[in-house]
Amino acid sequence: MVESSVLGFPRIGALRELKKATEAYWSGKVDKAHLFKVGQEIREKNWKLQKAAGVDIIPSNDFSFYDQVLDLSLLFNVIPDRYTKYDLESIDVLFAMGRGLQRPATETAKAVDVTALEMVKWFDSNYHYVRPTFSHSTEFKLNGAKPVDEYLEAKALGIETRPVVVGPVSYLYLGKADKDSLDLEPITLLEKILPVYVELLQKLAAAGATSVQIDEPVLVLDLPENIKAAYKTAYETLAAASGLPKLVLTTYFGDVRPNLEAIKGLPVSGFHFDFVRVPEQLDAVVEILTPEQTLSVGVIDGRNIWKADFAKAIAFVESAISKVGKDRVVVATSSSLLHTPVDLENEKKLDAEIKSYFSFATQKVAEVVTVAKAISGEDVSAALEANAASIKARAESTILNNADVQAKVAAIDESLSTRKAPFPERLTVQKAKFNLPLFPTTTIGSFPQTKDIRINRNKFAKGEITEAEYDKFIESEIEKVVRFQEEIGLDVLVHGEPERNDMVQYFGEQLKGYAFTTNGWVQSYGSRYVRPPIVVGDVSRPAAMTVKESVYAQSITKKPMKGMLTGPITCLRWSFPRNDIPQKTQALQLALALREEVQDLEKAGVTVIQVDEPALREGLPLRAGKDRSEYLEWAAESFRVATSGVENSTQIHSHFCYSDLDPNHIKALDADVVSIEFSKKDDPNYIQEFSEYPNHIGLGLFDIHSPRIPSKEEFIARIGDILKVYSADKFWVNPDCGLKTRGWEEVRASLTNMVDAAKFYREKH
Ligand code: GLN
Ligand code: ZN
Repeated sequence: MVESSVLGFPRIGALRELKKATEAYWSGKVDKAHLFKVGQEIREKNWKLQKAAGVDIIPSNDFSFYDQVLDLSLLFNVIPDRYTKYDLESIDVLFAMGRGLQRPATETAKAVDVTALEMVKWFDSNYHYVRPTFSHSTEFKLNGAKPVDEYLEAKALGIETRPVVVGPVSYLYLGKADKDSLDLEPITLLEKILPVYVELLQKLAAAGATSVQIDEPVLVLDLPENIKAAYKTAYETLAAASGLPKLVLTTYFGDVRPNLEAIKGLPVSGFHFDFVRVPEQLDAVVEILTPEQTLSVGVIDGRNIWKADFAKAIAFVESAISKVGKDRVVVATSSSLLHTPVDLENEKKLDAEIKSYFSFATQKVAEVVTVAKAISGEDVSAALEANAASIKARAESTILNNADVQAKVAAIDESLSTRKAPFPERLTVQKAKFNLPLFPTTTIGSFPQTKDIRINRNKFAKGEITEAEYDKFIESEIEKVVRFQEEIGLDVLVHGEPERNDMVQYFGEQLKGYAFTTNGWVQSYGSRYVRPPIVVGDVSRPAAMTVKESVYAQSITKKPMKGMLTGPITCLRWSFPRNDIPQKTQALQLALALREEVQDLEKAGVTVIQVDEPALREGLPLRAGKDRSEYLEWAAESFRVATSGVENSTQIHSHFCYSDLDPNHIKALDADVVSIEFSKKDDPNYIQEFSEYPNHIGLGLFDIHSPRIPSKEEFIARIGDILKVYSADKFWVNPDCGLKTRGWEEVRASLTNMVDAAKFYREKH
């Protein structure tokens, strides 16, 4: 019999139970016990669901209250001193590292004020992990035993699981040195961290775990030699310890071939590879297996929502079997299912035909089992026939083809992706037109999405208020935001995005060629989940999408108002893309739709237009090479197609966050002003990297993921550091990102301090 395996299941709950409990806990409405109970219920449900579906290898420790990498930092005591000095409970240390913590002193506890650790993209996904932050004083030891506890919890329910743990090389390589230890290279801590891994693995074995999924996802990156060499050291050390469970070394999201030498001969019981992404790596990976090692074949896509093609998946697994034999092959999801929505059954509003093309995490669990059964010779013919019919129907469906869009994409040439004049000329006319002060202050777009906003949006969606009533409500929200910005003295205003549920979904809902869900939530970071729309056909824009709100906002103020759009790459990356045409084509289709919107905004008198591309970096292929250089070309081209159809005097802004960015990549977009997330970069080199950036730039001055409020002095110090490197005339003053997840009190205080700091420097210059 060939076993089925799931590498991880979404932990947010089918109806976002985890978010609700976590946020209630943060705001003091429920206690720790309640939060833990909700976590336990979600885990139980997930395990039972997989058990009932017939999964042979069910994961545990795939649950987390915030992030699985952060969990490991807490578990291994990789906790910078600034988080330990308050005697917080473990769960509060976790949240403080994840999102910062600021609270006044009480009778029993002293005041707390600590920023969050850096948060970065998880490979090329829209998930973000909290970066392990090491210093010379880091002392590895086990803090509790979360993986063991959760293993035993499942066992008590009668469910045998395979715990998941990020492996030592990936854990260190994904981390960074703390600001007090900048000379520290995390991988040099390998020998110190291995005993803690040994201890953990021994405890898991003692609890009864026979096998552990040890994730080494960095194997799909271009690795420096010392990291490659670390694999041998790490896994030989682990293998030398007694009483350990079997280890299955797991990679996903890419191609391991360039690093095969590093893992060849490692003393592990087997490997898992992602063959959805890179089916071509089968021959090469088979080569490195010893006769005893198993091969977990990832054939059910953990990153997308399309129904698996059973015939293709089965043929692939058969070819793996023909190379290594039936007894050594396991059928698996390509990666954890964390990146897919929980259950398609909760979608009641999707068009039936379109819905029949999809498969969410719960359905994917069944798919893995069906493929494993088919391979094992069980009779699943009905499922196979139904699947074949569905795959055929989608391939032949023409409802979402649009010949006009296809022709327009084919006709894109350089004239469509070049501004009328180069930046210096544009700058001259823009200066004359906008007459902004030195250190112009602005925000990234969204203002707090209050409960009131969500209630009204829901009422409108349910038909409980009329469109006119809703529009009026939105206008009043816009007015509130505009008056607020005028009052505190911001220079370039935004309308606050109250009408938007999400920066991608909002556009997806208005574009043709998109489908969207009602419950298709996916964790982006911590308690922030997104509901990615789904590109199902050729994309076009039936009508203006943002003009009404932006024009209204501009009409009530004399200050420049930024039109606010989401760029083509971000629209694509934060949607589930089609898997039947290239992503480049999809990006260009989106670019053409956005170009029409940009031009409509300009015509309507909104002449500062920000086109956000926070996902630009996320789309970058994980390895250097042809795919990557091509991506860099078409990503930049898509942005320029969207933004180049305007006059020189129209100021194009763009915004990026969450990741290490390459200044050259940003330069290729040719935006007049860019803002980038910056406040958590403690690395002085990063400031330097952008110092040559030719156009105008705002380096984010405060962390919007944290409720913490920086003082005016803190802003002054930060700007001072930056001005040592940047020339004053190209520097903008802004937060890291949009303010939608913050409360009004925090926003008022932070922005006031920020604006005051800008005024301080204006007087000095
Ligand atoms: N304009 C968006 C906002 O402010 C940008 C968000 C983002 O970059 N993630 O919400
Ligand atoms: Zn952002």
